[in-house]
Amino acid sequence: MSEKELYLGYATDKVVTPFFRKFLEALEQEKLMKSVCPNCGTEFLPPRQHCQKCLSETELKEFTEREAKLYSYVIVDFPPESLASRAPYVVAIGEFPSGLRLTAHITNLTSMPEVGMPLKLAFDRVDEKKITYKWLV
Ligand SMILES: [Zn+2]
Repeated sequence: MSEKELYLGYATDKVVTPFFRKFLEALEQEKLMKSVCPNCGTEFLPPRQHCQKCLSETELKEFTEREAKLYSYVIVDFPPESLASRAPYVVAIGEFPSGLRLTAHITNLTSMPEVGMPLKLAFDRVDEKKITYKWLV
């Protein structure tokens, strides 16, 4: 799965690892999972099966924070063809109070985004087989 697909949504009908399957099943219920390394405590959002620091197998835990602040963003004027109808759009990194960061589209902007502005995490069913999360301002 490419990074771009990740921003757009998760296909729920593809063959995936048991780890990723659990993540998708939670997402279906509008729950977001992070992963936590039992060895060094590092957290990953979206979850990674193996810790980037010590390579231990991580554990999935529910991530419950919903309010974040805009950490960084890019405005995409020339998107890939599949997203052409949405351009220009904003891909934003939000930072939660815990310090974890998540990348997603901001879909309801009415003016230019500003670093530090509040963001709220929401879920979006793209179609029957695709669900994603997004930022709302
Ligand atoms: Zn670790």
